[in-house]
Formats: sequence, C-alpha cells, structure tokens
Amino acid sequence: MKRIGLLTSGGDAPGMNAAIRAVVRTAIYFGMEVYGIERGYAGLIEDTMMPMEMRSVSDIVQRGGTKLRTARCLEMLTQDGQKKAVKTLERHGIEGLVVIGGDGSFRGAKALTENYGIPTIGIPGTIDNDLEYTDYTLGFDTAVNTCLEVINKLRDTMNSHERISVVEVMGRHCGDIALYAGITSGAEIIIVPEIAYDMDDIVMRINRSRANGKHSNIIVVAEGAISAEDFAKQLQENTTYSVRSTNIGHIQRGGSPSMADRMLAAQFGNKAVRLLKDGIGNRVVGIHRNEIIDMDIIEAVSMKKKFNYELYETLQMISM
Ligand code: ATP
Repeated sequence: MKRIGLLTSGGDAPGMNAAIRAVVRTAIYFGMEVYGIERGYAGLIEDTMMPMEMRSVSDIVQRGGTKLRTARCLEMLTQDGQKKAVKTLERHGIEGLVVIGGDGSFRGAKALTENYGIPTIGIPGTIDNDLEYTDYTLGFDTAVNTCLEVINKLRDTMNSHERISVVEVMGRHCGDIALYAGITSGAEIIIVPEIAYDMDDIVMRINRSRANGKHSNIIVVAEGAISAEDFAKQLQENTTYSVRSTNIGHIQRGGSPSMADRMLAAQFGNKAVRLLKDGIGNRVVGIHRNEIIDMDIIEAVSMKKKFNYELYETLQMISM
C-alpha cells in the first residue's frame, strides 16, 4: 500500500493529535504517503484533504483537540454519501483509510469496508471508554484527570460549608468516566446509567458518613443517568444538608493529553499503519491486558459494553 488517508471523526478526544502524529510518522518511515482528511467524513465526502509531511505533525503531540478537526456527518449514513466518499478516495489514489473516532465513526469505516472493499483501520478515540473490545479508549484517561482536578477543588469548598456536591461528568450512555473519577476522587456515591439508583439508600449513606465524622459529600453523576441539576433537586427534597450541583461540561474534552493517552496514541497509530502496510484492513486496534491488539471491525462494533460491577462495589466499600 503506497498511499493512505487519515481522518478524525465524532467527538474530539485528547490524544487524537498524538495519534495523527504517530500515523503520519510511521507511514513515512515505511515509505508510504498520508493524506490528512479534514472534518471527518464530511471532508471525505467534500474532498477536503492535504498531503501530510514529517513536519506537518510537529508540535502537536502535547495538544488537545484534533489538527484535522472533526465533524458529525449525516450524509455518511446514506449510500449516496458513502459513494461520494469512495469516489474521493479513488480520485486521490488512496488505498487504505485510518479512522480515529468512536463507535459511530467505526460504523462509517465498516460501511466503506463491507460495501466498497476499502481497507480501513479504526483507532478508538473517544473520552467515553464505551467500546467493549478495548480496555481503554484514547482520551479517557485525560478526561478523568480533568474531572479529578475539578472534584478536588469542589471538595475544598464543600468541606468548608459542609455541603453535598453533585458533579456531572460526560460519557454518553456509558458510566466509566463517573466510575473511574468516582473511585479515584474519593467520591462517596456515583450515579451511572447501568445501575438504577435508590434515593433512600443514598440518603442513608450520606447520613452514615456524617455520623462517622465527614463534613461534606461528593456524588458523581454520569450524564447518561440524570443531570446533576435534576439529581441535586431530588436529593435536596430528601436531606437537610445543603446540596450544590456542578456540570463539568466540555472542558473534559480539551487539554493536553496525559502520559497514558500519549502512549496509547503512539502505539495505536503505529499499529494501524503496520497493519495497512501488510495489506491487512477491516480491523480496529485497542489495548487488552496491557497488550496492543487488533480485531475484526464488524466483531468489535457488535460487542456490547459491559459495566465493571467489581469496581463499583470497590467504590462502595472504600468510600465511606
Ligand atoms: P463519540 O463516541 O466521541 O461521540 P463517535 O464516533 O461515536 O464518537 P458519532 O457521532 O456516533 O461519534 O459518529 C461519527 C460519525 O460517523 C457520524 O457523524 C457519521 O458521519 C459516521 N457514522 C456513524 N454511524 C454510521 C453508520 N451507521 N454508517 C455510516 N457512517 C456512520
């Protein structure tokens, strides 16, 4: 394979730039050309792309966001849109495509593979950690670290005023950001879409923690379960302690990627190009038990994400 395309799609995630750099540099190492496609599948359909050189990816390993920009593109869901995307690839002699994005982006790659025989490799780039086949997605670690910074600050002020802080984090339908941020910030309670909550039990846990000498409480709420504002209102009706809500919002998606995300980006990007170089397509790369893996794209997108109940129980045991 002599020429490959590269795009970032769906929600942006810290580490996407580091992955772009790894793809471009690995391809150049193997004597391949890379075209950077702007704004995800929209750019592929509209033919907005540029050749990428060694220096095109200088000074981006530490930057959040994505140099190629990203978009959500409804036209890619249609046959017409997909045909236009294939025409663009043919026009430029692009033989394979690396797609950095979440499960939606992988479905786009799967369509190009299944319906038009374009070899594609998916790199999991999403803060949500909502893909079952990989232990971690690119951006998740940085996003959780951003949540921790916010929660640490909230804890200071909540302690002073002896309040309960309800903090909303992202994750769409997946509770992993709440789970990991909850455990590692020392939150007493997490509310996730995977588990129905019981207000009586929550109030009982708060009262018990106060009886045991706590001066404040942190409750981390995943956006897929309920908004922090609504949950705080419900809780306030059931407790005399003062409740405040905070939505961390889009700052979770920005910022310089952590060491863990930069390392994943380097390994995922490198693996993706090695696969294409060997003529292997229709795969996604990931990490499982600390090893970089690849898997059939169709199999990967059909796997249902499992919630880690053991970690949830750990939080309940150590957070009082
Ligand atoms: P994130 O998890 O961060 O939101 P994502 O990749 O899951 O990222 P989506 O908005 O679901 O984000 O998908 C990104 C883009 O992928 C869509 O805008 C669309 O262009 C394309 N896409 C999604 N689903 C399909 C599909 N079934 N067929 C073809 N293309 C698709």
